[in-house]
Amino acid sequence: MRRFLRGRPLLLPPCPRVRPSRWRPSHTWPVSSPGVTNEKMDTAVQESVRVLKGVGPQLAEKLGRLGIEDVADVLFHLPLRYQDRTRCSAIGELRPGTEALIVGRVEASGVRYGRRRSLMTVISDDTGRITMRQFHFSQSQSRGLSRDRFIQCYGEVRSGPAGLEMVHPEYRFLEDREEASVEAALTPVYPTTEGVGQRRWRDLTDQALSLCKGSIPELLKDEYLADFGELSLSDALMLLHRPPPGVDLDTLGRGTHPAERRLAFEEMLAHQLAMRERRQRRDSKSAVPIPLSRELWPRLQEQLGFTLTGAQQRCIDEIGSNLGRATPSLRLLQGDVGCGKTVVAAAAVLAAVEAGQQAVVMAPTELLAEQHLSVLGNWFAQLGLEPVWLSGRMGQRDRQAACARLASGEARIAIGTHALFQDDVAYQQLGLVVVDEQHRFGVAQRLALRDKGQTDGRVPHQLIMSATPIPRSLTMVMYADMDISIIDEMPPGRQPVETVVLPNTRREDVQERIREACARQRRAYWVCPLIEESDVLAAQAATSRAEALKSELPELRIALLHGKIVPAEKDKIMSAFRSGEVDVLVATTVIEVGVDVPEASLMVIENAERLGLSQLHQLRGRVGRGDRQSVCLLMYQAPLGNMAKERLATMRQTTDGFAIAQKDLELRGPGELLGTRQSGAPQFRIADLARDRALLTAVQYTADKLLRDHPDSAAPLVARWVRAGLAFSHA
Ligand code: ADP
Ligand code: MG
Repeated sequence: MRRFLRGRPLLLPPCPRVRPSRWRPSHTWPVSSPGVTNEKMDTAVQESVRVLKGVGPQLAEKLGRLGIEDVADVLFHLPLRYQDRTRCSAIGELRPGTEALIVGRVEASGVRYGRRRSLMTVISDDTGRITMRQFHFSQSQSRGLSRDRFIQCYGEVRSGPAGLEMVHPEYRFLEDREEASVEAALTPVYPTTEGVGQRRWRDLTDQALSLCKGSIPELLKDEYLADFGELSLSDALMLLHRPPPGVDLDTLGRGTHPAERRLAFEEMLAHQLAMRERRQRRDSKSAVPIPLSRELWPRLQEQLGFTLTGAQQRCIDEIGSNLGRATPSLRLLQGDVGCGKTVVAAAAVLAAVEAGQQAVVMAPTELLAEQHLSVLGNWFAQLGLEPVWLSGRMGQRDRQAACARLASGEARIAIGTHALFQDDVAYQQLGLVVVDEQHRFGVAQRLALRDKGQTDGRVPHQLIMSATPIPRSLTMVMYADMDISIIDEMPPGRQPVETVVLPNTRREDVQERIREACARQRRAYWVCPLIEESDVLAAQAATSRAEALKSELPELRIALLHGKIVPAEKDKIMSAFRSGEVDVLVATTVIEVGVDVPEASLMVIENAERLGLSQLHQLRGRVGRGDRQSVCLLMYQAPLGNMAKERLATMRQTTDGFAIAQKDLELRGPGELLGTRQSGAPQFRIADLARDRALLTAVQYTADKLLRDHPDSAAPLVARWVRAGLAFSHA
């Protein structure tokens, strides 16, 4: 969370967080640990923030917006950065860009009338002089700054027109230069929300620190902490909240100080343990074993018109090894856009049907679900199977009919959106759930899915598909509770998309290119990305671009697609584009995931500098799906920042999703890599998977060792760090 905030204003938006009851040690934990329970361990810190002095309902509500509910949350709310008021700097040694405390004598002060009226006060010591500049000041303030008074200032040093200056520093007058007051510790600056000031934070953390003294037990043995100077949890927290003078400010607050790394390590370890626990819990349940299909699948394969790649076949075998067992499996099928995950899912669905079970395929949007219905429906029809369609937009009567067929078992396959898991949908024998792009589903939807067990208590197998390539180092941590299959090979004949980067000023050339391409029966996407994350503005941008293109390319059929268009209309537009009645589809990023129109071979992305790498990669993946050479034109608005430059260069250099994901991780960190808060990525308080990735191997190793040698500490660690185990539940 801190990493997220760095470099941004201190005010945070409210942060919603799902937080049901705390996770309790389960029966299946390796060694039950009588006498060691959460209740006994972290008692004081588990109290509500209301036990702290000065915290009434209003403040508690504000803290809640930051996700702070108990005393432990206050302890783990670490400063964003630190100010050094422990010593005075000589004015002659100040460097621009740093914050410093200085003491000096007022040499002169006066109002300057420039573009903006300001009060300029020159302050000097034996080593140099600096100007204090104030734009807002009162008469008495200006009068008070009289010559020869001693003054103490704290602020950021900048270079101004007449040498170094501090704009609106904090200052106070001194009787003489000797009695400057320095602080004993660095001053922490906490991330905060409106109405909770830094003084309040210092008070809250003071109270929490003294409350926790002695009551926040050390759960990690020294042997696990060798890399972090064997720093105890209490000492690490103390150091981070109240760093002593002289502490290394180059590492502190940047996540590289041993105290920060130690906390990040403990947190990641706790999450790892939670996931392992979850896997164990799943292994203790039972499921109907599903052998690989010997009849339906071979029949489908004959009719596919293509041969599976080696990677697809391997993934089918891997999935088969799970499905064949009597415990519920959870497997992630990962593969870059266009690698052919759908057909692998089809093999699993057919296995379930052949084993007498029902199977469902769920997609996060209507658009994607319908695409599955059309592709899979076609394939299955050739085998005499007709999937049931279920979406949120169905009429009541159709819905009831669909539900009846699923409940009676007459229908063996269902395809749709999360409507598949609404309360009133019952299955006769649900054996397999396939979820496409699951990171787009919310937590609640994922849980609903898990709860559709069978009447005899058996649990369906789950196959999750994702086109978001995630670097291996991250999968180990994020998906420790799943098995993973990766399709790392594209179907043959695909030509890598050629990527060209060019400034917005070349728009006419781009239009010319579209004109030519469409004259040769090709189709093009023109994407206008989100502007300031507003759907409305993005829709406007796309709308006006569509209008402009219509008038400039009158011979082409141009359609518009954005999030504000009603779903039924959207589907019409998509199928018109698919069937070739539309040449150019102008869209917002709604087309990002999964849309498959093999004839589209030109992708234009305007303002590509605004998009992250993963998003650009997903968008580019909409073309290059057929056997024609495809082109992706990335248009940008100059001047480009360094990050944007690097992103666009990466896009030009590679089409390998994993390489791009790795780069994205380095540039931005995992939260953004994975899209949203719903991404399923663990929401760490302190750790940052990108920054702390060097610790990941140690986390794995330590989890093994701890479960073997000190299993008792696992449950309290999880209870301390993992919010209800839900934040990144794959259920
Ligand atoms: P994704 O993994 O992005 O979901 P799809 O399953 O939509 O990819 O497959 C992309 C396209 O590739 C589809 O048109 C599909 O029929 C085709 N395809 C899949 N596997 C193969 C293969 N082995 N050989 C040729 N084409 C294939
Ligand atoms: Mg797909």
